[in-house]
This record gives sequence, C-alpha cells and structure tokens, in this order.
Amino acid sequence: MKADIHTLLELQGVKKEQQQLREQSLACSRRLHEISTLVSQTRQQLQNLEEKHEAIKKQIRDGELELMTLEEKLKRAKNRLSIARTPKECEAAEHEIHTLQQKRESLDEQLLRLMDEQDQIERELKKRRDEWTLSAAEWEQERKRLEHVRHEAEKLEQALKADEYRLAQQLPEEIGEIFRRLLEKHPLPVVVRVCDRACGGCGTLLPLHFVQELKEKADVELCPHCRRLVFFDKSRET
Ligand SMILES: [Zn+2]
Repeated sequence: MKADIHTLLELQGVKKEQQQLREQSLACSRRLHEISTLVSQTRQQLQNLEEKHEAIKKQIRDGELELMTLEEKLKRAKNRLSIARTPKECEAAEHEIHTLQQKRESLDEQLLRLMDEQDQIERELKKRRDEWTLSAAEWEQERKRLEHVRHEAEKLEQALKADEYRLAQQLPEEIGEIFRRLLEKHPLPVVVRVCDRACGGCGTLLPLHFVQELKEKADVELCPHCRRLVFFDKSRET
C-alpha cells in the first residue's frame, strides 16, 4: 500500500504524545483524589478528638457540681450530728456522714482520672493541630501544582487534535482507516519498522520476498501475523 511513511510516523507521534498527556492528567487526578481523602480524614480525626475533649470537659464540670452538692449535704449531716439528742439520731447522722464521705472519695478519684484523661487529650489535640497546620499547607500547595499540571496537559492534548486532524487528512483513506482500527486493537506503536527481517511489533520473522518488496517499493504492508503496519526503514539499513 502506498503511504507517506513520514506522515504516518508523525501521526503516530501525535497519538503517542496525546496518550502520555492523558496519562499525566489521570495521574494528577488520582493524586488529587488521594489528597482530598487525606484532608477529609485528617479533619474528621481532629473533629472526633475535639468532640471527645468537649465531652470530658462536661463530665468534669458535672462532677464538680456533684461534689459541691455532696459537700453541702455533708455539712448539713455534720450539723445534725452536733445537735443530735438521742443515740438513734446520732447513729443516723453518723451513718449518713459515712456514706457521703465514701461517695465524695469515689467522686474525687473519678475526677482525678478524668482530669488525667483531659490532659492527655489536650496534648494529643495540640500535636494533631500542629501536624494539621503543616500538612494542610503542603497539601494545598501540591493541590494547586497538580491542578495546574493537569490543566496544561489538557490544553496541550486539545491543541494536538488539530495536528492529528491535519495529518489524518494527508493519509490515503484506506491507510487512515487501518491506522484507526489498529489503534483500537494495539497499544502504540502500530506503525513499525522491519528489524532484522522481523516485524518490529510482534517480532515474527517476515518472508524474504515480503521484506524485499517493502524495501523496493518503499510502502507499507500489514504484518501477516499481528496486522500492524510495517515498513522498511532504508535510513537504518546496515
Ligand atoms: Zn507483527
């Protein structure tokens, strides 16, 4: 088949470049998605910790109120003891004082535990907030850079469409059609040189007369095995 090999190769080069640009855009999109997941996960973790911190603070406030009430009750019970007239009244007041003191003791312990926990959470929260400040700035910078790269790649890919159209117009219709079909079936390259008498695409050894003809007529043929377009590159002949 007669075809301008140079145009075919140039078209193939454009297709290759478009493919690389698409891959670059995709890689950018994947990383952008990862960054957005990281940002929302980190935000969520920070929010969980803040909620936990608020809950502990509330528990401590409630415990302190309960402690004040207990102290009041204790004061009243002690008062009752001081004015008790009968052994029965005395015993009742003493019993109440004992019970209230036990409650106060356990509430004190509980409050100490909660305050320890609050300290730990506050330290963790500070650490996480510092990390977030650093990471958020880095992620934002990376996000902007990736969006720029992706935008440029898309723009360039779009611009190459004009080249693709111009080159495709220059090819004989039959060859253009074969080229399009090959692109659907094979990864690039689909226009290949004969290398040491073999097809540069699939490596199959080609019949001698087939190679001879390619060489003499300087045209393209379909590889009998993989159906890629093969040509003989005289400039590389050794
Ligand atoms: Zn082949």
